[in-house]
Amino acid sequence: MFKKNHSFGPAERLRQLPPYLFAEIDKKKRDLVAKGKDVVDLGVGDPDLPTPFFIIDALAEAARDPRNHRYALDAGMPEFRESIRKWFQKRFNVTLDPQKEILPLIGSKEGIAHFPLAVLNPGEVSLIPDPCYPPYKSGTWFAGGVPRLMPLLESNEFLPDLSAIEPDILKKAKILYLNYPNNPTSAVASKTFFKEAVEFAHRHGLILVQDAAYTEVAFDGYKAPSILEVEGAREVAIEFHSLSKTFNMTGWRVGFAAGNPELIALLAKIKSNVDSGVFQAIQLAAKKALDEGHSAHQEILKIYQKRRDLFIGGLEKLGWDVKAPKATFYCWLPVPPGYTSAELALKFLEEMNVVVTPGNGFGPNGEGYFRVSLTMPEARLEEALRRIEKSHQHLHSR
Ligand SMILES: *Cc1c(COP(=O)(O)O)cnc(C)c1O
Repeated sequence: MFKKNHSFGPAERLRQLPPYLFAEIDKKKRDLVAKGKDVVDLGVGDPDLPTPFFIIDALAEAARDPRNHRYALDAGMPEFRESIRKWFQKRFNVTLDPQKEILPLIGSKEGIAHFPLAVLNPGEVSLIPDPCYPPYKSGTWFAGGVPRLMPLLESNEFLPDLSAIEPDILKKAKILYLNYPNNPTSAVASKTFFKEAVEFAHRHGLILVQDAAYTEVAFDGYKAPSILEVEGAREVAIEFHSLSKTFNMTGWRVGFAAGNPELIALLAKIKSNVDSGVFQAIQLAAKKALDEGHSAHQEILKIYQKRRDLFIGGLEKLGWDVKAPKATFYCWLPVPPGYTSAELALKFLEEMNVVVTPGNGFGPNGEGYFRVSLTMPEARLEEALRRIEKSHQHLHSR
């Protein structure tokens, strides 16, 4: 009566997704760990440090209050939105309307992935940086849109060359994605570039989506701008912010969108149909983080900066020509001649038991690079450097 071996295939939109490029590396890594090997994992973009205690305390207290056990308001708690307004004012000197220009999210990835459903019609184009954080592409696909890649080249400081976008593609384009400070290249964008992008968006009727997940992870006194600092940005831009990387809160799932009120309202409409807001206790803890997190955040940055100096300094000693990133906890490093990104990552794993991420996993223009994440204690970074040094001769003699 029941059919055996019944199988449900994936929907077309899932079939469209590119193959998962890290499967082989993941499997090899699991095998090595299972064999008891000491694997140094510099692959994951997820802070190893704990969330600061005062934020956890705020969560615990709010979680005990039964008022926070019910559905949250779709638009987020007014006191959280007010706290975002204040933080944004202080940090970027931008005045946002907390009712209309701010929307709490269940992590910024959620907002980024849902946003195309709110604005794209089937066949319309998203202009996407390459290499990039994958949800710009998948969000576009899921909405029936067409991703078109804008190469991020080292020769252009990993900024897209907007003037190189072909007119017939531009005609069909509706969204232009930016992500600065950038994952995976760790590049930063100046306010001048943001100005150029805003003017470009005005001229061509584009929506600018700026992913600001790493604006707060910056070193040597560098302060990354918000695109909303630029005149005219508010008419065309929506910016996605996250508490994940700033306060070691990746698992908590909280972030927010800020910017053009119409775009915020459209995203809110999609979200009101698919989720019911961020757990209120998490909103109150996130409010605490934004209100009182400055010094805890500075401590976190000091740790990343020390790690960065240690790792980049170590590679320089080995004769590698590498630049210290100004922002993000990533090092985007050129692959030595003679290897593809994937071959190098495999070699690191097999010979050194060190996990790095091959650049081609972020898109075709990631080929020739690999990403190292500084989300490991200094001792582990030193261990990775020792192993790189040992394989070094061999690495460069191919
Ligand atoms: C980590 C990351 C995010 C997502 O952060 P959430 O945890 O979803 O807030 C967004 N963009 C980039 C580029 C990231 O690396």
